[in-house]
Amino acid sequence: MPRTVMELLKTLPRTNCGACGQATCLAFATQVIKEGEDMSRCPYLTEAALALAGEIKAQQAKGLGRRRESIAIALEALQEKVAPLDLADLAEGVGASYGEMDGCPYVDLDYFGHRLRVFKDKVCYPEGVEANPWDAILLYNYLASQGKTGPTGTWITFQSLPNSVSKTKTLKRLEKELAAHFAGKQRDLERAAARLGGQPVKVAEDADLQVIFRPLPKVPVLLLFWEADTEEDFPAQVHFLFDGKVSEFLDLESLLFLVEQLADRLMAA
Ligand code: SF4
Repeated sequence: MPRTVMELLKTLPRTNCGACGQATCLAFATQVIKEGEDMSRCPYLTEAALALAGEIKAQQAKGLGRRRESIAIALEALQEKVAPLDLADLAEGVGASYGEMDGCPYVDLDYFGHRLRVFKDKVCYPEGVEANPWDAILLYNYLASQGKTGPTGTWITFQSLPNSVSKTKTLKRLEKELAAHFAGKQRDLERAAARLGGQPVKVAEDADLQVIFRPLPKVPVLLLFWEADTEEDFPAQVHFLFDGKVSEFLDLESLLFLVEQLADRLMAA
């Protein structure tokens, strides 16, 4: 089985020191597994991480070429889609702020609590480090939606979104992984949610933990968690709900990517 981002992340120091050129250890692990980044760029590799290095290198050599090519194509296609848009016009509608640098327009967007600067040809952190292409694709999709209305405050399931049937399985897998990770550890989930800026709410009657995240300004995500009940043989459960207008801002693939990012960040926090 190929090594995953989470497997690698668990072996990293998780200090988010930035010495590898990425803002967080999670971003670095994502780059290594998905983009073929050289593991040695982290000067603080643990023995456990070094033990994985050979395996990950072989994994990178096997499958990255074609994947990189398709990501580059997707990114280019989205940049072409965004190129004719007037960023000044659409900034407010997507909850961004508009600016210009050396005559190049950009918008600043809050993404999982980090400020990202989206130019028409690149996406970077304010200090200039380029964001990984997966995040760039998501942000260009978000901008290209040119969504205008705000969140409605009503919550819907992923399954109720048009054409979601074939993708529901992916969401259920993410929910199951997250539930299994935090089963019997509700306090850990509460702490992780707080670290990610999650806001506790009371929306559903019976869920043990209910938190709203705002990974993108106009895309709130509601996490519902039911703790395991061993006496009743009831496993821990997680459900994600989305704002009634979410499809005005993200397509289904982008929404799943966003949830995957949220789940990874919670497990890494
Ligand atoms: S991966 Fe290593 S260098 Fe990068 S942020 Fe984490 S500890 Fe620091």
